[in-house]
Amino acid sequence: MIRYALACEAGHAFESWFRASDDFETQSKRGLISCPQCGSVRVTKQIMAPAVRSIGKEAAQSVALADPRDAEMRQFMRAYRQFVENNAEHVGDKFAEEARKIHYGETEERAIYGAATPTEVRELREEGVEVAPVPILPDERN
Ligand SMILES: [Zn+2]
Repeated sequence: MIRYALACEAGHAFESWFRASDDFETQSKRGLISCPQCGSVRVTKQIMAPAVRSIGKEAAQSVALADPRDAEMRQFMRAYRQFVENNAEHVGDKFAEEARKIHYGETEERAIYGAATPTEVRELREEGVEVAPVPILPDERN
């Protein structure tokens, strides 16, 4: 079983269990995953980015603490997310694996982002790899 951190189009964050990583895509396409708060089926995996130098540790931390209802904060979060998408490599479900390799110098240091399970995030943090969620904004559309 894999637990994923998810978020709906309104920005509600929640978690859900899946048998395999492919199950999220399959169930999501069929509209079988809905937000427990508003019932929306427009749900995406929350993406994570490591707080590497090129992204900025402070920016990542303030995003993690941000209140998405605050207009100024939303603007900052949008810019931050855009920055991540423009400057980091999307590694999909291999996020934890790649973040760890970068941390241990097994691959070139670069900015990456992708999906990780809460367990993977906890393990990474225990190993000293700082990661932060990339905000999902309420007005985003996939
Ligand atoms: Zn919702």
